Parts: sequence; C-alpha cells; structure tokens
Amino acid sequence: MPLVKEHSKKRKAILIIASLIWLLIIASWITFLLNGFIEQYYILKIVYTALVPLISVLFVIILMMEFAHKKELQEIVDENSYRLGKPSLFCDLGSFKKRIKITRKGSNKYAEQYFFIMTPTNARGSNGLNPYIRILNGYIADYITDLFSKRCEYGKNKVVYGFARDRFCFYAFLSLKQVLEIVDDLSNAIYELAENHELKLYLSPHFGIVKQDGNCTFSSAFANASVALEYAEMHFEQYALFDQTMVHQTSLSEIKEISEALKKKEFVIYYQPKYSLNKKCIIGSEALVRWASPTKGLLPPSKFIAEAEVGGLIHQIDMYVFDKVVEDLVEMRRNGIKLLPVSINFSLYEFYSPDFVNDLKKKVIESGLPISLIQIEITETTSQKNNILATSILNKLRDFGFKILMDDFGSGFSNLLNLNTLPIDIVKIDKSYIDGITLDHKNKEVLKCLISMCKANGFEIIAEGVEKEEQVKVLKSINCDVIQGYYFSKPIDKEEYINLIKEEEK
Ligand code: C2E
Ligand code: CA
Ligand code: CA
Repeated sequence: MPLVKEHSKKRKAILIIASLIWLLIIASWITFLLNGFIEQYYILKIVYTALVPLISVLFVIILMMEFAHKKELQEIVDENSYRLGKPSLFCDLGSFKKRIKITRKGSNKYAEQYFFIMTPTNARGSNGLNPYIRILNGYIADYITDLFSKRCEYGKNKVVYGFARDRFCFYAFLSLKQVLEIVDDLSNAIYELAENHELKLYLSPHFGIVKQDGNCTFSSAFANASVALEYAEMHFEQYALFDQTMVHQTSLSEIKEISEALKKKEFVIYYQPKYSLNKKCIIGSEALVRWASPTKGLLPPSKFIAEAEVGGLIHQIDMYVFDKVVEDLVEMRRNGIKLLPVSINFSLYEFYSPDFVNDLKKKVIESGLPISLIQIEITETTSQKNNILATSILNKLRDFGFKILMDDFGSGFSNLLNLNTLPIDIVKIDKSYIDGITLDHKNKEVLKCLISMCKANGFEIIAEGVEKEEQVKVLKSINCDVIQGYYFSKPIDKEEYINLIKEEEK
C-alpha cells in the first residue's frame, strides 16, 4: 500500500484519540463544575485551570498539523494527477524515503538491497507533457500497486515503490535475480498496457539498477541509478547495473555549448561522394555533419555526437542535417545542378520518437523534391536491439519511398539473417571489412560470398572506407561496384561537391 495512505490512517487514529481525550477532560471538568467539586477540592481547581487551556492548545495544534498534512496530500495528488494522468496517492519522494527507512529497520540487515528506477519511454524531456505518457504512467502505477500488494510473490514489505522526478522508483530487499524478474515482469506489462489501451507511443522501458549497502544516501543512489538508466538507454539495453566506469565525462557545459551551437546554426554538412566503378561516375553521396565552432575550428562528429546523444540533443542535430540536405538539394535544383541521391545518418534515438516518420514525410512533400533523392542510413545495432520496432518504422519509411541503407555492416556481430528480416535496400560494408581484403585471401573470399548472397537477395552493395588502389582492384574482381572512401574523395563541403558534379557533366 502506498505510504501516504498508511500515514493518513495513523494520523486519523491520533486525531480521534486526541479528540476523545479533549472531550473527556472537558466533560469531566463540566461535571466537576456542576457538582461543585472544583470549589471543594482546591487541587482540582488548579489542575483544571492549567489542564483545559493546555490540552485545548495542543488540540488546536494537532488540528492545524492535520490541516497542513491534508494540504500536503492534496499537493501530492495534484502533482501525481498531472504526472500519472489521474488522481493518485502513489508514493511521492518524501514518503518513499521514509518508507525505505521503516522497511530497512524491519529487514535482515545482511540481505541484498537494490535501488532501481524505470522510464517506460525515452521520449526525453517530454514525459510530463505528452498526454499518452501521462496516461500510461497512471496505468503503470496501478499495475505496480497491484503487483506488490495483492499478488506479491516476493514477500510482504520487500519492495518499496514510488514516483519521483518523472521516474518510477523501487527499493527492493531482494536478490539481483529477483530484481531482474521484476524488471522483466514490468517491461512486459508496459508493452501490454500500451497495446490494450491503444496508446500511440514508442515504448522502450529501461531500468537503472544500483546495489545498496545500506549506508548510501538516497540522493547518491538516485544519481547513480540515473547514470545506469542513461547507460541502458544509450546502449539500448533493457537494464544496466551501475558501476563507476559508467560515470561519463560529458559535462553539462559541453551539452550547453552544443545546444547554443544548434541555435546559432554552427553545424555544416559535408558530402562524401559514392562512386560507381563500372559507370565511372558519382552516383550519390552521404551527408556527414561537422561543427564549425568559431573557437575550436571544424570538429568531426566523434567530438560531439556521443555528447549530443547523452544530452538529448541528437534528434535536433539529425533533423537539422535533414533540413540542411533538403535545403541544399532545393538550391541545387534551382541552379540547374544534376540532382543525385543523398543518404543521411539517423541515430538510434529517432526510432523512439513517435513523430519521426511523419516529420520526414512532411518535409520532403513540402520541398517538392522526388523522394528517391533522400536515403536513410541506419546502423546494424539500431535494428538488432529492437527488431520489431525497427522493422515497423523502416517499413513505414520504405512504403513512402525512402531507400534504406544498412550502415557499418560487418562491424561488431553482423548477422546475415538480420538482413533478410529487415526492410532494407542497400548494404554498406564497413571499413574494417574492406581493410582486411588485401591482407588475407580468406577475407576476400568471405566478402565475395557475402556480396553474391546480398545480390541474390536483391540488395545493392556499397564498400565503405576504400582508401587504396589495391582494394579497388579486389572489389572490382568480386563484383562490388559502388565505393565510398578517401580513394575517390574525402567528405567535402557543398561548393566542392557541386563543382565535382559539374566537372563530371562536362
Ligand atoms: P559513418 O556513417 O560510418 O560515416 C563514415 C565515416 O568514415 C565518416 O567519418 C567519414 O569521414 C569516414 N570515412 C569515409 N571514408 C573514409 C576512408 O577512406 N578512410 C577513413 N579512415 N575514414 C573514412 P565522420 O564524418 O567523422 O563520421 C563519423 C560518424 O559520425 C559517422 O560514421 C556517423 O556514424 C556519425 N555521423 C556523421 N554525421 C551524422 C549525422 O548527421 N547524424 C548522426 N546521427 N550521426 C552522424
Ligand atoms: Ca553512415
Ligand atoms: Ca559507416
């Protein structure tokens, strides 16, 4: 049961007892007065003269405290009504802390303890605003109350729960195995709740868990659990268990700087041409973002993309790049430059934004550009971490006419089967794969096999990071036609890119 309810029960009992005592004293006082005892017994006169005002003052104080408490409760209800989408006495932060203290006293002090927090979706910064998230939060609160009261398998008073700072919080006097069972249970429930109530939300429940030794303060537990939660979100894991190595170096000032740079439009787009070995011409390009900082010079994405992801700014950067590319293509059309498709990189985060697909569609329609000019690059990990979600969004993009490129194929744990389950058109073979083809005969044979399999399945192929003539020869010999890399051209700015297209047309 939420602590606030338990508290109000206790307070009601105290109020009733205090009222009874006060009534008893007043009644006895009146009786003694009427019977003339007070006049007879001097001691009674003194006791009552002192006792009645004293008890009355105490009674008024208790009444005032009760009034203040009621007001406080109303504030929690109001706050929770907003956060959880309906009136609720689900534990707030203050009562959550008190409840942990009480439960800790009654528990085995050698038992394992974990503090963990959860968000059902990583639609950053909009938790309180998106009405669907608020409605979902309300359902989750009910589900949690039910899980840990009526049908708690973990034993009574083993889990304290609440809602604070837009996160569901739990303090469990349980083993890690049991905590992970709860994590699974809640994740499944969240998907079911959203589906049953037809909430239009891209869900991604993530958990940040931190082991407690009993001495840790609540605020440091909350901070560490938040770091773990962020880690889980960034790595698209269901949960992460906090350890010190997760404390990243990204400072708030860096994030603020990126945000300022976005406002000042300091990001610029470079285009890296894709070259067809057979046709001997450019067949398109990849848009790569750079930060033209007035103080630090031209910065590559490695200096700010990860920070932007941590700071929740990546969506703005990706959309900025998208807008810029559309703007550049419109300008090229106006100036009669030959238009070639441009592929744009999108971060994993986009897949959790409910408006992503519609936003892109709307912008392309408004520009009047042929849809075939815009392509979308996603990395293999995007699709692996959440296959169902990725498939659904990629299908929508593809149905509209965007070509989908699978980026960095061959880096990490590539999965050929994954290729066939995803709606993609073009496979980009990662540089690390290409680097190996001139070093070992086996690497070349594997790539040859991969290319023929991809082609048999209708995928186009692009070799990335091609730097050397030797690599080009091998690629030609194994039927890989399109290359991208320093061999043909580094990423170049818009003017250079236009000049390159114009040169070819001569
Ligand atoms: P990526 O999508 O794999 O992009 C290719 C990267 O390899 C680019 O680095 C490019 O400059 C580099 N490259 C191309 N050819 C060669 C070569 O022959 N040799 C070598 N050594 N490198 C080559 P860049 O521009 O620094 O981008 C790094 C990564 O940043 C990109 O990897 C992409 O994941 C990310 N990125 C770039 N622009 C954006 C963007 O607009 N949005 C998002 N979300 N990510 C972006
Ligand atoms: Ca890319
Ligand atoms: Ca790549």
